[in-house]
Amino acid sequence: MKLAPLPENEAARIRVLERYDVLDTPREEVFDRITRIASLVTGAPISLVSLVDDERQWFKSRVGLEASQTPRGISFCGHALESNVPLVIPDASKDERFADNPLVIGGLGIRLYVGIPLKVSENVTLGTLCVIDQQAHELDEDQVTALKDLASMVVRELELRKVALTDPLTGAFNRRMFEKLGAKEMSRANRQGQPFCFAMLDLDRFKQVNDDLGHDVGDAVLMHVAQLCQETLRTEDSLFRLGGEEFGVILGNTDIDAATEVIERLRRKVAAAMTTVRDKTVSVTLSAGISVSGPADRTIDEIVRRADVALYQAKDIGRNSVKVYQ
Ligand code: GH3
Ligand code: MG
Ligand code: MG
Repeated sequence: MKLAPLPENEAARIRVLERYDVLDTPREEVFDRITRIASLVTGAPISLVSLVDDERQWFKSRVGLEASQTPRGISFCGHALESNVPLVIPDASKDERFADNPLVIGGLGIRLYVGIPLKVSENVTLGTLCVIDQQAHELDEDQVTALKDLASMVVRELELRKVALTDPLTGAFNRRMFEKLGAKEMSRANRQGQPFCFAMLDLDRFKQVNDDLGHDVGDAVLMHVAQLCQETLRTEDSLFRLGGEEFGVILGNTDIDAATEVIERLRRKVAAAMTTVRDKTVSVTLSAGISVSGPADRTIDEIVRRADVALYQAKDIGRNSVKVYQ
């Protein structure tokens, strides 16, 4: 049996999956409708919305299967993560990757497997919409096309879930999402002893921008800064709007030097940028404080507090600067 290779960006991919806030949530009719149609159009009795987590694949929706999750190691869907095209296996017992897989030789007796990657960005696939049959057979082109359409609908539904956790002005995640993802990052750090960093960003003398140019120009600057952040941050980083002109960044799987480099690059980019609104052009700077998680930390609040201390130091030394908590 050939185990699915781990995608190169696996640590980042897992964080992207967490940002959909979908794992271990209850069944939802919108997804169940999709799997029912997938089974209907392909004649395959099993259909799944399968999300590939760290060590398991978890099913947001399932038709024809009792289990709500199975181990990742033996999963078929893991093989579809780095592919842009459907994974089509008409008879798994004749495919060297799967012939001795327990899901093929064991009780489930998989023969046909077709998985459409649930691709959410250039290099991130969350899992698959897949159909499974215990009879070997082919799907025709129309059936595969229908599955692709249904997979797009799954991705669209997943995207919609995020809206409730997003700040409407800047598109950054809101405080509620910060609490969810912060807790996840914290428990991963405690479990795996792998540090992450947190940066608190605050625009410099922003009240003056509003006073001089008006609140609508201020809003446009906030939008622009958030966009610059998203362009500069990496896949494993998550951006949150935590206050009026304050943003937080969780830098996953990152030590303090790498985090400082990313935030320093962001500081320079913001300082060099101009925002133009109608006939007015304005440029702003930001200050940032960075802290790293440690083995003694139990909640993310402690890490945020340290980043805040460092942020005040950055303001004190004249703003437009990045300080690491010492
Ligand atoms: P400092 O360098 O010390 O951070 O100075 P500051 O002026 O940025 O700090 P202060 O906290 O006094 O002011 C923050 C200002 O941010 C207050 C308010 O005018 C502005 N602000 C907060 N939320 C929004 C928003 O949603 N839109 C706009 N346009 N302005 C906002
Ligand atoms: Mg502030
Ligand atoms: Mg400020």
